[in-house]
Amino acid sequence: SAGPSMAYEKPTEPEGSIVGVELLCWVRALLKKIKRRVLVGDKVLVGSIDWVDRRGMIENVFQRSSEMTDPPVANVDQLLVLFSMEQPKIEAFCLTRFLVEAESVGIPVTLALNKVELVDEETQIAWKARLHEWGYDPLFCSVESKQGLDSLEFILREQTTVIVGPSGVGKSSLINALRSNQQVPHAAEADNWFETIEGSKWFEDQRVGEVSVKSGRGKHTTRHVSLLPLSGGGYLADTPGFNQPSLMKVTKKSLAQAFPEIQRRLNAREPVKCSFNDCLHLGERGCVVKGDWERYPYYLQLLDEIKIREEFS
Ligand code: GDP
Ligand code: ZN
Repeated sequence: SAGPSMAYEKPTEPEGSIVGVELLCWVRALLKKIKRRVLVGDKVLVGSIDWVDRRGMIENVFQRSSEMTDPPVANVDQLLVLFSMEQPKIEAFCLTRFLVEAESVGIPVTLALNKVELVDEETQIAWKARLHEWGYDPLFCSVESKQGLDSLEFILREQTTVIVGPSGVGKSSLINALRSNQQVPHAAEADNWFETIEGSKWFEDQRVGEVSVKSGRGKHTTRHVSLLPLSGGGYLADTPGFNQPSLMKVTKKSLAQAFPEIQRRLNAREPVKCSFNDCLHLGERGCVVKGDWERYPYYLQLLDEIKIREEFS
């Protein structure tokens, strides 16, 4: 438990934390005052524990290993980008947007392609080769036929993973197939719980159902984050509503880092570098990245989009 002497500086997590115990927690007002937001996935110091009613008070937030803002989740180990082979089909530019957004978080990215039972082997092989050129080794799976689910379970084991992808590809189905039956707080309580967390609009228990939340953009969208325990250990964050990559964190300079093809070309020419330090690889004099790769037009298009955003902000 936390004594009053606990300074409000970001502590590092002690050994032997308690996990697997569910408490309904409020956030110490002082934390809110110093704008220390508590995110889903945060490791926290809990004091004033009432073991009978299972209540507690969040006294402090431990240092985060990573922090995502869209969706807001802390301590994420990896991102799982999920698309489907059919219904809906893979749309290359849309997939690129998701991959760029995922790569820009700075944590490992895995690409999985669902509904593989709907396509023939040739289609599968063709996509595998194509995505390999992009720098990815996709995992083919099917929630329907259970193909590839063992491999996915292995990848997710003991990790905190955020799953992203367009709607309809099977994210909820996959989560339901992999999650454990471990108890989550009673829905009514969870409602209260998340109410106390700053920015509570984002946090609703899944089982509360489709509650319309008025987002800042004046549009009714349901956006919530739940961290669900997996039967194989680890957590999978379900993030319905977060299925439009905003690319808000991507800059002109960081965009190139989100394309494995560019990095591969730069590495291949080591120790030779582009002549200009701030080279955007648009055919500048002395650029070592050529434009002879499939996604180059996408790179140009995204670069334009970012330029426009940067100019108007
Ligand atoms: P989400 O919007 O990404 O969460 O997608 P859902 O999980 O709601 O799935 C959308 C639809 O795809 C549902 O009708 C699912 O039953 C279906 N679906 C999910 N996985 C598979 C699969 O592996 N094969 C096929 N054929 N359909 C699937
Ligand atoms: Zn260059």
